[in-house]
Amino acid sequence: MFFEILDKSLAARIGKIYTKSGYLETPALFPVIKVDFNPEIINHIKKLNFKSVITNAYLLWKKLKGDIVDIHEYLNFKNIIMTDSGGYQVLKYGDVSIRPKESLEYQIKIKSDIGVILDYPTGLSRDIEFVKKSVSLTLRRANFARRYLNNSETIIVAPIQGGTNYNLLKYCARRMKEMGYEMFALGSPTGLMEKYRYVDVLKMIMTVKSIVGDAAPLHLFGAGHPMIFPFIVACGIDTFDSAAYSLYAKDGRYLTRDRTYRLEDLSYLPCNCEVCRRMDPKDFLSLDLNKRIELLEKHNLNVSLEEIKHVKLHIKEGTLWNYLEQKARAHPSLYEAFMLMKGELEYFAEREPFTKVNIAGIFFFDPYSAIHPTLISYHRRLLETYFVNDEETLVIFPFLEEKPFSRSHFMKRFKDDLIKELGHAAIDRIRIAFIGYPFIFIPFELSEIYPASQWEGWIKNYPERKYLSKFLSGLLSKIKTKNFILFEDGRTKNLIKKIEDLIRAKGTADILKIYIKKDLNSAYLENMVSIMDFLKRRLHI
Ligand SMILES: [Zn+2]
Repeated sequence: MFFEILDKSLAARIGKIYTKSGYLETPALFPVIKVDFNPEIINHIKKLNFKSVITNAYLLWKKLKGDIVDIHEYLNFKNIIMTDSGGYQVLKYGDVSIRPKESLEYQIKIKSDIGVILDYPTGLSRDIEFVKKSVSLTLRRANFARRYLNNSETIIVAPIQGGTNYNLLKYCARRMKEMGYEMFALGSPTGLMEKYRYVDVLKMIMTVKSIVGDAAPLHLFGAGHPMIFPFIVACGIDTFDSAAYSLYAKDGRYLTRDRTYRLEDLSYLPCNCEVCRRMDPKDFLSLDLNKRIELLEKHNLNVSLEEIKHVKLHIKEGTLWNYLEQKARAHPSLYEAFMLMKGELEYFAEREPFTKVNIAGIFFFDPYSAIHPTLISYHRRLLETYFVNDEETLVIFPFLEEKPFSRSHFMKRFKDDLIKELGHAAIDRIRIAFIGYPFIFIPFELSEIYPASQWEGWIKNYPERKYLSKFLSGLLSKIKTKNFILFEDGRTKNLIKKIEDLIRAKGTADILKIYIKKDLNSAYLENMVSIMDFLKRRLHI
């Protein structure tokens, strides 16, 4: 297998794609290099330690009149080179003069590491006949190109067309997967990106990903501005190309990770890269046009790479969702796109990893940040694995200040007291859990484990009442005991009431309820005798 997944967060992954020119760590950006490139830009890309670029094999073929070169020598770049087939030119000019077979064979002959079938892009067309034509032509060419799958060292990418016609997009994705392709690409989003239609782009990504699955890498053509990178990666894009660094530069525009500025509007350069630290906006404007473009391109590349590093860091520590919450504020279209993601929590929850080694705490800010894919995934696993039998007694506390709860001072003391009063054997029949928002319920056994071990931010109200009721009834169906000690404070009053109602709805129960007036410790000390008596009776000691 040429693709290996090393780490995950949401639908994003850090992975390795093995090519004949070495491996590429994903998520990865392929800056678009023109056939008539500026060698300074290639040198800069190498200096930045970019491992991947993409160039257009069709335009090269046209320029060289079909002559064969080694593309690595031609670009003076020994790392990974992806070639585009000319599909974009089809979209722009209606057709190209190369035949699909010729296009693919040319890409293989010039030793491209990752080649693309000459597709027939849908673009933004809503003309159903045209969309059908683009899908069927692309599929026919993909079917023909299968013969090269095992006969070349070039990884062959199957572009998926259909645009925003989701039925045809799904159909195309399904057929491509059946044909045995190992790497896919989503075509046609360039026009959507230019119009800030991020919602459509993310919808297309999630639609395709749900069909082609998680085993294969998925490429996005024309990813555009770095501010969209975290969102496309979170939805499952592994590699993407972008010419934005250059297109914006030619237009005199300066990128930051979240915005675009016209050079004339900048009073300062908010960056300290090797270009910016020696100049101010006036210096930029006084340069001759070609030099200005070159330096802007270099800066824009720095910013794009920086964004990818941030995204990777957040995947590694499991905080990508928190990062998206922040980034969504950069532009109303991003916010809208993020709202769409919030409506697709299942998509993300089912892809969340069960464990994480290198973690940082998840932050919760307001009731709406409680709707978090990591929590949904946690709840789902809890309902699958949690069980309390009828011989046991369940003791429920509000969330403690100290995390992880199981190793807090209070818990140590409580456990010591139990052993002293009831003996070691009885301990096994006492189950402990903690309640509060946004996790709702954390069993003692899970309180040291990701994600319950490390998080910040207490939430007063849970916004999704329906979800909450469904989760609680699911949970209570796994709790068979009728013996409970419930600690209640001001924050958990409503939650305790819901739990108590559910317990009583199942029949008679024996509940000892302790009200926390001042703090947990004093409530425990005041009621210690009755707590121990209750436990002794229930455990027949
Ligand atoms: Zn800079």
